Amino acid sequence: MAYQHRVYGTDGMNHARANNMVWDDTHGKFVPAAGLSAFPAERYELDIHTHTIASGHGSSATITDMVKAAKACNLKMLGISDHGPATLGGGRVSYFRNLKYAQRERLGVKMLYGAEANIINSKGNLDLSDDILKSLDYVIASMHQPVMKPGSAEENTQTYINAMKNPYVTIIGHCDDTKFPIDPFKLFAAAMKHRVLLEINNSSLSPEGYRGDTRFTDLVILNLSVHFNYPVLFSSDSHGKSHVGDFTYAADAARLAKVPRNLILNYSSKALLAFLAEK
Ligand SMILES: [Zn+2]
Ligand SMILES: [Zn+2]
Repeated sequence: MAYQHRVYGTDGMNHARANNMVWDDTHGKFVPAAGLSAFPAERYELDIHTHTIASGHGSSATITDMVKAAKACNLKMLGISDHGPATLGGGRVSYFRNLKYAQRERLGVKMLYGAEANIINSKGNLDLSDDILKSLDYVIASMHQPVMKPGSAEENTQTYINAMKNPYVTIIGHCDDTKFPIDPFKLFAAAMKHRVLLEINNSSLSPEGYRGDTRFTDLVILNLSVHFNYPVLFSSDSHGKSHVGDFTYAADAARLAKVPRNLILNYSSKALLAFLAEK
């Protein structure tokens, strides 16, 4: 069977991409994509964990720059999720408050506006008030240093679970961070109970990632997704436009865990919107 192969060595990947080559598993080599009629192309529709200049670090990209990047990789939907105010230089409350007036479609790309809110204490409280959270399309709750000090796996897991109890939290961000160890079994069960998504964060899994070796936790989460038939979300966590829609390493992990497409919400903006609406 042939499938689009993403390799960890970026040279091979870039070469293959530039020449529209795909990995033919049967013959163990890259072959031209055009020669494979049954090739199941990767058609992601959306990426909703992305950062603009409003996050205060890592990028000078405006929302328009991000939309152009999303359009260039054929995304139908883009979500902007800047860091909450507890992050040094992160988005101000007024920025998040005004997102509800932002355009719902830009350059033909459907827009969602959210936040990557900081969990600020072990009770799972966030750095944005409920009335702001309520006005957003979705809320990612994450733990970042130095806003949060890592605890034990048991403590970190409980902190995430406490954050999930907030009815406006829809996604837990990069819970694979080795600095904040977790019990993935317990966290997954809580995610199902509170109808929250756990993301598979591409920047965590990237060889250039700074969250340690996150593969074990991500693979456990992906296997639990299959076992319980409960969806997950790929996130680029792109700071700026360069990685928008890039799920190279998340997809590698999902392939290893044999996660069916219907459980990866990035393939369907309809499925994602239905999930968010049910919350
Ligand atoms: Zn984050
Ligand atoms: Zn982020």
